[in-house]
Amino acid sequence: MEIVEQIFQLFAANGENAYFGENVSQLEHALQAAYLAEEAKVDSTLIVAALLHDVGHLLHGMDEGIANLGIDGKHEEVGEIWLSKHFPASVTEPVYLHVSAKRYLCSTDKHYLSQLSPASQQSFHLQGGLMTSQEVADFESNPYFREAIQLRYWDDEAKIPQLQVPPLEHYRSHLVAVLGNEA
Ligand code: FE
Repeated sequence: MEIVEQIFQLFAANGENAYFGENVSQLEHALQAAYLAEEAKVDSTLIVAALLHDVGHLLHGMDEGIANLGIDGKHEEVGEIWLSKHFPASVTEPVYLHVSAKRYLCSTDKHYLSQLSPASQQSFHLQGGLMTSQEVADFESNPYFREAIQLRYWDDEAKIPQLQVPPLEHYRSHLVAVLGNEA
């Protein structure tokens, strides 16, 4: 499957880039998020979503393609658009919503914001800050909002320097399973 090879190539090309403001690389962050998802015994779709939730950052590293999408900066949108050519909504919606999920949790759980890393607190403000009650209601109306919140917690945790987790190859079977379901 060509898309699986493209994903592996993206991580090979850009996975060593720093995960913005944290002490792990993009690849380490993705592998830790996927590991946490697998530990939670969720479906392959959500494990794949965890693995690929920041693929928009990797795509930003490839300047051709992104320019064609006509999108500037919003990695969750870049990722969702790219992934939606191949993956079902059960993958792409949690990816698309993972930034909104941070805003949602900050808006509905007064302890959540203070637990975030400094970089994540900073980006929260750039990403729109607290939600209005209408935005909260809209978020909760998405059929994948619970999955997006689960993904968000793994995203927040997946920043541990030197944590030993399975390699990218471990997730090939999940990718193939999800793409097979879609076919
Ligand atoms: Fe992330």
